[in-house]
Amino acid sequence: MRILFVFSLMLALLSGAMPTPLTAQNYPLRQHRYINDYAALLEPFQEDKLLQTLKAIETAQNIEFTVVTLKTLADYEYSGAIGPFATGLFNAWAPGSQQQNNAILMLVVLHDRVMRIELGADYGRRFDAQIQQIVDEDVLPRFRNGSYATGIQDGVEQVVRVLSGQAAAIEFRGSGNSGEASRSPDATRDAPLADNRAVWPLNGIMLRILAVLIAVLAALIAWWRLRIWRRNRVPRCPHDRLQMLRLGKERENEFLDAGEEVEERIGSIDYDVWECPGCGHAVTKAWPRWFKKFGACPSCNYSTLHSNKITIVAATSHAGGVERRDSRCANCDYRFSQQYATARLTSSSSSGHSGGGGSSGGGGGGGSW
Ligand SMILES: [Zn+2]
Ligand SMILES: [Zn+2]
Repeated sequence: MRILFVFSLMLALLSGAMPTPLTAQNYPLRQHRYINDYAALLEPFQEDKLLQTLKAIETAQNIEFTVVTLKTLADYEYSGAIGPFATGLFNAWAPGSQQQNNAILMLVVLHDRVMRIELGADYGRRFDAQIQQIVDEDVLPRFRNGSYATGIQDGVEQVVRVLSGQAAAIEFRGSGNSGEASRSPDATRDAPLADNRAVWPLNGIMLRILAVLIAVLAALIAWWRLRIWRRNRVPRCPHDRLQMLRLGKERENEFLDAGEEVEERIGSIDYDVWECPGCGHAVTKAWPRWFKKFGACPSCNYSTLHSNKITIVAATSHAGGVERRDSRCANCDYRFSQQYATARLTSSSSSGHSGGGGSSGGGGGGGSW
């Protein structure tokens, strides 16, 4: 029993420490140059005003500023902090240009209540504290009042004022604690890994990777053994404490509903049915597959949704691509199709950015409301 406790503790620690899945990240499509309001935050007249502002910024300052609102990052199968997602989105959309890497992207995620202003790589990190201050003082307070359009509009105007140098006269507000103290923990977490990586010696990295691999392997084996042990453990009937019997596959179906039968048939979930020989009480236990080919169906909720990805436009090293995902439920025949933008390919050899569009190294600021 004690060893099981150690195993589960290890697992819990590992699942917390494990990085986000290694699958390619999907991003929303860029359908408009300036505003992609997927969360429908803006009334038509507000969108009009913002559009005029963004166009004027590009004409007068030569800065491509793009605003995107989303309902939730979960729609893109993302569950981490907003920072890496915003950086990835910037690099998928690649606003600005390689020569003039001064584009800006504002991302607002309505239901997750997080936002971020992401800067093109030419700004470096030297504006981060000022951007964070704008987020904290001009954007988030308005979002908290539900005034999304005003928060976005004021944020855009303030950011451009700071970045185009007109803020020099306004000087840095709250000079006492340099903005560092007012930073959200989120902003600190978003610091790019690349900075640390440069400091570690190469064999340091290898050792770390090796240690993580061994730990992951040990945890997987432990989890596997724990699972087998739990699955074969004979339960007792809650009514008469008799040891229950596991039914064979042919009798199982009497106790499964139609959706569960489909799950069992396509192999997304394996069901065990235990029956009490005394009173006939039955218990059904579900054992999902480790590496699931099937997702949960949003219509019937069974793990019977199968998805296919089709590349419509392949990503290159200087532009993101477009991908379509077609999903179909094997139980209720629910069908669903959606297009996504995909991140541009990163070339390991390039010292900076290697082609057409702009890129971001993660500079900017953000927070939650
Ligand atoms: Zn019983
Ligand atoms: Zn379904």
